[in-house]
Amino acid sequence: MQNVEIGVGQVKVNDGFWNRRIQNAVENVVPYQWRVLNDREPGAEPSHAMQNYRIAAGLAEGEFQGFQFQDSDLAKWIEAASYSLIYDDSPEIRAALREAIDVIGKAQQPDGYLDTHYIIKKPDRKWKEIAHGHELYCAGHLLEAAVAYRAVTGDDSLLRIMEKNVDLIRSVFGKGEGQIDSYPGHEEIELALMKAFRATGDRKYYELAEYFIENRGSRPAFLEEERFLELSGQNRWLEADYHQAHAKLRDQKTAEGHAVRAMYFYTGAADVALEKNDPTLKAALDTLWKNVTGRRMYVTGGVGSQGDGERFTIDYDLPNDTCYTETCAAIGLAMWALRMLRLDPDVRYADVMERALYNNVLSGISEDGEHYFYVNPLMLKPDVAKYRRDHESVEPERVKWFGCACCPPNVIRTLCGLGSYVYTQRGGDVWQHLYIGNEAVLHTPAGDASLSTVSSMPWKGRAQIVYHGPSGVTLHLRVPSYAKDFAIMRNGEPVSLELEQGYARVCPADGDCLEVSFGMDAQFVQANPRVTEDCGKACVCRGPLVYCAEEADNGTLLGDFTADLAEPPRVEERELFGGITGVTVSGTRSDMAGWDEDTLYRTAPAARVPASLRLIPYFLWNNRGLGEMLVWMNAR
Ligand SMILES: [Zn+2]
Repeated sequence: MQNVEIGVGQVKVNDGFWNRRIQNAVENVVPYQWRVLNDREPGAEPSHAMQNYRIAAGLAEGEFQGFQFQDSDLAKWIEAASYSLIYDDSPEIRAALREAIDVIGKAQQPDGYLDTHYIIKKPDRKWKEIAHGHELYCAGHLLEAAVAYRAVTGDDSLLRIMEKNVDLIRSVFGKGEGQIDSYPGHEEIELALMKAFRATGDRKYYELAEYFIENRGSRPAFLEEERFLELSGQNRWLEADYHQAHAKLRDQKTAEGHAVRAMYFYTGAADVALEKNDPTLKAALDTLWKNVTGRRMYVTGGVGSQGDGERFTIDYDLPNDTCYTETCAAIGLAMWALRMLRLDPDVRYADVMERALYNNVLSGISEDGEHYFYVNPLMLKPDVAKYRRDHESVEPERVKWFGCACCPPNVIRTLCGLGSYVYTQRGGDVWQHLYIGNEAVLHTPAGDASLSTVSSMPWKGRAQIVYHGPSGVTLHLRVPSYAKDFAIMRNGEPVSLELEQGYARVCPADGDCLEVSFGMDAQFVQANPRVTEDCGKACVCRGPLVYCAEEADNGTLLGDFTADLAEPPRVEERELFGGITGVTVSGTRSDMAGWDEDTLYRTAPAARVPASLRLIPYFLWNNRGLGEMLVWMNAR
């Protein structure tokens, strides 16, 4: 059965929880980031991204500034801004998009080359710094932007620019004589090429993606040839495995190296596996999936536990305060999960996708939309984060922008493109993975169908889905792993559940109303004892949400609290942040009367007193000023 690509414009999110954020992104953040990219936002670190293009285009004078991958910030913004037009067809944003694309077109060189870092700063080093040059990475993001812009506006001007760029890349890289036989230092273009292939049907995009995916790990490659090797010889965190280039994909058994690179690689590989219909590639990805989600993923859906190398370390090494858990890596995990669902609609992928989106992705952005976390720790003591060398990558508060600003536009393109995570489709079979309110139009072999979902998630396990369309369409509705008493009513009558890989099958008729309901208890969760940092601890989860304690509700010394596991967490409605479901847990804390500040040690046991801790959803932390935060609390 043929997988069907659901276009980004086919699913419009219309949801109480998400739309507040999407609307803010559309109305405020997309224009805000445009100002930042043009260095017109006071207080934000200058981006210089547009200026680099202007200089490369000969429209301005000056030097290249920023990281070598600065172009990708603008590319991700173009993707986000394109999606934003689905929600608000703003003439200003359309004009900004045209301006950006016009300058990009003028910066492109006659042979199709398009990377401002090398055009301006290192014209003689093009395609010579593959490990860290990011030319293919930036090209990938621009290609994704081009596909998004055409999908929403019908204008293929950026796609034509990028086709010329891809044609150049195809001539430079390959196994032919005079070509560079290699693969990108930072994966990204693979998944972008697969988007372009699906959007255009032109197999040249697929062939290049397949070559990069299958070639990865072969030797010799850039790792042996570049001066960079000298550096990596001194830094064990930056060797071949940093680039997922230590082995061919089918021989990789554990997730290694830079977490964002790894996630983008697996995402592109899953795209290729689907098109290639290659079970060995799918099996290799499942081995990696099992390793990541079974041994190397935080409860928040974060991946990458070490700041040095922004990378994976070893199984069960999940420190809570020095972790990296980059926002982009969690976005990458959600993207990979979506591709695995296209390959194999199994609820375990959807559970992880949802976990990442509602926790580590969403924590990357403040409620006002204009402050961002790059690193998303699971505990914070502000003074420690500010002072200690091994916490240097942890920002104790979200910031307005970063010199290395991969995360802010990434989270905005994810919010504005959220519709693409809701469904997957094969022929007349449609899987609904997320109960996010939305209006969808799906093209099925039996004819066009519309699905309209109204949802109370993530606060209540309730969704109503109205179907209009032909008969012959099968809906597969997800039964989340945390759902209690999952039930479906069809036009008021109970449906007997037929489950397949965690999805309930329903064959709706025109006008059918399906009501999905399930319970979501607030529950204590414990980590595998192999995770030393979480031993003797528990956290609270409810539905897709992980909870945390904050100083704003509980004062300091959060680490002293010990939860009583025999007392179930209590759910409470709170007015905070426009209305949330909070949680309170009972336990004890030290009687501070016996502890003056100059006494470090006393003979045990020290006196303890009853206490409780109020928790809020993790993604909301640090929206009420600087303070302590804790996910994993002592528990017994
Ligand atoms: Zn990032």
